[in-house]
Amino acid sequence: MKSSELFDIAKTLIPGGVSSPVRAIKPYPFYTKRANGSRIYTEDGDELIDCCMGYGPLLLGHCHPVVKAAIEEQATNGWLYGTPTEKEIELAKIIACDHPSIDMCRFVSSGSEATMAAIRLARGYTNKKDIIKVEGGFHGAHDGVLIQAGSGALTMGVPDSAGVIPDVVSHTMQVPYNDIESLEEILSKNKDIAAFILEPVMGNVGPVLPEKDYLKEVRKITAENDVLLIMDEVICGYRVGIGGAQVMYDIKPDITTLGKIAGGGLPMGIFAGRKEIMELVAPAGPVYQAGTFSGNPLSVSAGIAALRYIHENSGLYDKLDGFTKEIEDYLPERYRNSFVRLGSMFKLYFRDSPPSNYVEAKQSDTEKFGKFWKGMLKEGIFLPPSQFETNFVSAAHTTGDIEKISEAYCKCL
Ligand code: PMP
Repeated sequence: MKSSELFDIAKTLIPGGVSSPVRAIKPYPFYTKRANGSRIYTEDGDELIDCCMGYGPLLLGHCHPVVKAAIEEQATNGWLYGTPTEKEIELAKIIACDHPSIDMCRFVSSGSEATMAAIRLARGYTNKKDIIKVEGGFHGAHDGVLIQAGSGALTMGVPDSAGVIPDVVSHTMQVPYNDIESLEEILSKNKDIAAFILEPVMGNVGPVLPEKDYLKEVRKITAENDVLLIMDEVICGYRVGIGGAQVMYDIKPDITTLGKIAGGGLPMGIFAGRKEIMELVAPAGPVYQAGTFSGNPLSVSAGIAALRYIHENSGLYDKLDGFTKEIEDYLPERYRNSFVRLGSMFKLYFRDSPPSNYVEAKQSDTEKFGKFWKGMLKEGIFLPPSQFETNFVSAAHTTGDIEKISEAYCKCL
């Protein structure tokens, strides 16, 4: 059946026809039949070069043979035990070795679950109530952070959600990204702040990059104010390099959240940190957290396989950085200034200069973006369907793919 027909049926059975809002492309989304390497094959018979990559988890591309073999091997031995497995220890060891800030990890099933638990843990540890987040920062779809969120919520123009009780978000404050003074001001006025949660690089607004020393200053002043720093590396983790943005920018957060790549493309979330904090998590301590699918053997096996492969082929980060540089260099000069990239993450903003925060990103011409996006799809390139979602290239992309992407950019611009 064609995508348009499938969408008509889906809308009668699934709200908006989709399982996550950003997928509701107008007038209808294409339906995917299968994917391999850098390609998606649609129900309409199209072959697309994928620059969405499942919104980030597929650093190695679709159906990577090493990850696939690990999933198949695990599947033959069962996929859910409700007991601990040795593989959880192995994955925790890899993650702890890669991140100097991490001694212990707790596995959950999504990035949202990880940030929700991380915030609860920060409150449990500090005995304080409030949290600060960055304006436009997205940390998943749970109540306490669904306030002027980025990602799908920003795209849909509904920064707040119905059903979120004002009392809940009244404990969530916001500061603009790249603005140390605002953070200092809030910290000086409010002494009941448990944590500052931020994406080190704002992956859900584009990407927006940290200005020089911003993250170092954030670390310094949160520590001075006894406020825990939660770095949400659900996108950046293993994306910008082994050890994520915290290793790249040399910052030690108190709590880290991971997901996406660390699960090899299967559902995964991780909250992690130093022992003294993590040992407050149940059953070791009083901060409750639990999940039927937490640490499930399929996700854990896929994660181990992906991370091992990344360690053995760490040159892939330079290759991917070269790819996005190539796309940038190919652009007509007047667009280069608003093309933002970091390693395998990239985005062209439809505005004159790269944004430094959410408000500036929102000044992008989304109508132009929409036309451009459609043009790219016609050229066989699938970009995330939002000005505010980061594009990704993967280890499965080839130089030929990059040439096609670059040529399509020029043509559509
Ligand atoms: N944090 C960040 C930084 C994210 O980008 C996302 C998802 N895009 C989440 C948390 C939520 O993760 P999940 O969709 O796996 O719940």
